[in-house]
Amino acid sequence: MSNTATLIRNGRVITASDDYVADVLMRDGVIHTIGHRIATGDDVAVVDATGLYVLPGGVDIHVHLENVIGPTITCDTFASGTRAAAFGGTTTIVDFALQTQANSPLGAIARAQRSAESQVAVDFSLHVIVTRVDEQVLQDVRHAMHHEGVTSFKMFMAYPGVMMADDAAIFRMLRQVGADGGMVALHAENGTVIDLLIKEALQAGHTSPRYHALTRPAILEGEATNRGIRLAELAGAPIYFVHVSSNQALKHIVAARAEGIPVFAETCPHYLLFDDSVYNSDAVEIAKYVMTPPLRTADDQKHLWRALRYDDLQVIATDHCPFCMKEGHLGYRMQKMRGKDDFSLIPNGAPGIETRLASLFDIGVMQGKLSLNRFVELTATTPAKLFGMFPRKGTIAVGSDADVVLFDPSATQTVQAENLHGNCDYTLLEGRVLRGRVEKVFLRGTLIVDGLQWLGREGMGRFVPRGEVRAF
Ligand SMILES: [Zn+2]
Repeated sequence: MSNTATLIRNGRVITASDDYVADVLMRDGVIHTIGHRIATGDDVAVVDATGLYVLPGGVDIHVHLENVIGPTITCDTFASGTRAAAFGGTTTIVDFALQTQANSPLGAIARAQRSAESQVAVDFSLHVIVTRVDEQVLQDVRHAMHHEGVTSFKMFMAYPGVMMADDAAIFRMLRQVGADGGMVALHAENGTVIDLLIKEALQAGHTSPRYHALTRPAILEGEATNRGIRLAELAGAPIYFVHVSSNQALKHIVAARAEGIPVFAETCPHYLLFDDSVYNSDAVEIAKYVMTPPLRTADDQKHLWRALRYDDLQVIATDHCPFCMKEGHLGYRMQKMRGKDDFSLIPNGAPGIETRLASLFDIGVMQGKLSLNRFVELTATTPAKLFGMFPRKGTIAVGSDADVVLFDPSATQTVQAENLHGNCDYTLLEGRVLRGRVEKVFLRGTLIVDGLQWLGREGMGRFVPRGEVRAF
């Protein structure tokens, strides 16, 4: 079945740069021919895509599937999370392999690969989270880049004592990884000051979830972002900021790019869909919106849209980091309700892997904030380029993997957690009506989603070895 050629007839092909009606022939897992009135033989299945967009499969470079975070674990497995990704039109994810104090980056990669490989239903890769840097770690990082196909490394300026790396460690990584053609991704928040603010809030009896946002002010995201930029500048290396949420951070990114420093950054759908007005209550319900960084002001949101439009932000990734609201849902323990009497115990994160494309199409393209080309560029093409997967992933071109989404721009859907395909028991978009819907999804030429029907299977996703980043 998987080697049967498929012809997508008469769809509107949208890439980061092009927009035209054509036939797309997929054969042997790759895009074989793009043309007009391509002739077919008996071995070719034909799919009529009249009126549909033909998009490259989404590339989501920031997801947390079965990641151990503090005393708990994200509630999507590689199986459930990648099935949800596929239904949402994402065919490649990049997850994380955590270097703990005890293991090396190489051990972390091997372990994450082992648990992912038998489960993933879409293609995947890994960033290594580096928490500790010494000579051996730097050697392992070099080995990972040149022999394991892992060319990006994430470091934290937040969470002291758990994930946080100091400035010298970040600088050493930037210097080496940058020289080798890779990318360091930073979580930029001033962790030690945040920890102090959290302690003070709790001492004053402020335990409600809204204090999560009040103890992580945007200025501390801005300060850390600026510090990261200066370290990258000194190292002569490109740098990538995950989950940029505020203008305090953005203004440093904009200024650095104007100076010609190779600074890149992502934002996430939740920062575009919601603002901090959701925190105006003491209800436990707002634990759903406890993610890091927290939601910012409506004014910050305006700046994010502007930056997306003018390329000061280059990627929209989900930071899919799901925890259940109902304690014990599917057996998951110590989820959101763990923090009902102490906001600092609420696991940080929200689901979003399945709703990324449809929600951005609705609020971005349909509202005139993003062109169709820009929508594809932000969700597939640039993430593939920045993380060493282009042109195999992220576009529709002859020779690229046949990861293709047929998207119906005139359909509508109402988002409900019970109809999504991940394990999380809530969605931030509950009840929201979205214009546009993923109709069919092909992974390397194989139909894995057909309307509401799941045709994929666990383990069919492959590890994508990545090359040098294209920091342009
Ligand atoms: Zn994250």
